[in-house]
Amino acid sequence: MIVMKFGGTSVADRSAIERVVSIVRAARQVAIQPESPDWRGPVVVVSALGGATDRLLGIAAQAGAGDIDGARDHLRALCARHLEVAGIVTQPDERRQVEQFIRDAFGDLERIAGALGVLGEVTPRWLDAIAATGEIVSSRLVAGTLLSQGLASTWVDARRVVVTGDTHFAAPPLVPETTDALRKIVDPLLASRRIPVVGGFVGANRQGVTTTLGRGGSDYSAAIIGACLDASEIQIWTDVDGMLTADPRIVSNVQVVPHLSFAEASELAYFGAKVLHPSTIQPAVGKNIPVRILNSTRPQDPVGTLITKDRPPSDRPLTAVASKQGVTVVDITSTRMLDSHGFLKRIFEVFEDHGTSVDVVTTSEVSVSVTVDNTRHLPEIVATLEAVAEVTRESNMAIVCAVGDGLQDDPSFVSHLLEAIGGVPIRMLSQAAARRNITLVIHETDLESVLRRVHDRFCAKVLT
Ligand code: ADP
Ligand code: ASP
Ligand code: MG
Repeated sequence: MIVMKFGGTSVADRSAIERVVSIVRAARQVAIQPESPDWRGPVVVVSALGGATDRLLGIAAQAGAGDIDGARDHLRALCARHLEVAGIVTQPDERRQVEQFIRDAFGDLERIAGALGVLGEVTPRWLDAIAATGEIVSSRLVAGTLLSQGLASTWVDARRVVVTGDTHFAAPPLVPETTDALRKIVDPLLASRRIPVVGGFVGANRQGVTTTLGRGGSDYSAAIIGACLDASEIQIWTDVDGMLTADPRIVSNVQVVPHLSFAEASELAYFGAKVLHPSTIQPAVGKNIPVRILNSTRPQDPVGTLITKDRPPSDRPLTAVASKQGVTVVDITSTRMLDSHGFLKRIFEVFEDHGTSVDVVTTSEVSVSVTVDNTRHLPEIVATLEAVAEVTRESNMAIVCAVGDGLQDDPSFVSHLLEAIGGVPIRMLSQAAARRNITLVIHETDLESVLRRVHDRFCAKVLT
């Protein structure tokens, strides 16, 4: 059984959803082979229609700021977009049900927006309820479309099968509870040869309150569902041909990486390769399930990237380079404290207490430098640290992370890397213990040129 996840651009409009139907139909035909009498699935996981989550979050902010009429107008426009796309559902009865579902969901949101406008505040709980609606309606719509195209599908409410912790907007899936729920609700559907269609990104805590897994979290949903159901493959269908050697929005001559190890894919996703949510690989590693990234806009010509525990050796040390902008560096200096027992522990506890994760870390005898993405709690963090150290922060920084299993075997790689980027000032430099990545922190304004130079120097040769 495979899990097929379709991202926002893959379900953005009617023609995108038509492509999804043919991709699912083809997968179904492969499954129903005489030699596989116990075939099942696939399980389909879908994101919100492209751009819908951004719109919903904007509407929530608008409502919280008291602009109830503006929020309502935007909700009606978004509802109209969904109803227009729902025209793809050809069976009249099914279409009526899908349309009613969409109207009800947006009607609920209008009432919520009205209440939030009066309160003048959007709590994390309501923000999650609003954001989740994108996937809840898109999955219902895709289920209806598959059904009316002759593919026996059943909509599954993600809030009934993905059980999470309580942290809104970054809710951790709870594997035992999610496995139980999937076994109870999805297994019987698979056993009766139906195609379950689930919204990604969305779950609910043990009390049934709606949660979400964080931006880009539909990949993570697919991986969790795949791992809990012991899938044979997790497919991430998106708008590019696979994992590329660099961010195609910055570098033009990128190539598809045909095969990545789990460790390489995790590093790339963590350091900014948006095509995979950073947590996607972790459930797959646990069950050793291959992950494949494929292009839904060119299904007839599937290049794709296969991600497995190990990959065949390549003659290139560097596999791909990831990058992230909007990074802040925090320097913590203490001549008194640094060598004293427990100082580092204390520093990291402060970040942890404020739910802020640290990406890159470097130390000297008197200072520790860390990078953070999320600066929401930085003022409180800095205030706490200032009790024991001098703290400075610098924003508008970027991370460039060169990744490759082959870096371990090339002791001169760092010197070649530094040579390639020339005189660009480097704020931080770190090499992980596994020597699978080398991470540079630079000014955002230097990102494009550094990324191009690194890519041209190390990724120009065709990958095998
Ligand atoms: P989806 O909606 O399918 O989840 P995303 O927008 O989340 O798609 O991810 C796909 C996008 O990730 C691509 O369109 C591309 O611009 C971006 N991206 C950034 N870095 C990479 C990379 N190294 N390889 C592939 N895509 C990347
Ligand atoms: N729709 C959500 C987002 O835009 C989740 C996803 O697309 O993976 O973040
Ligand atoms: Mg995504």
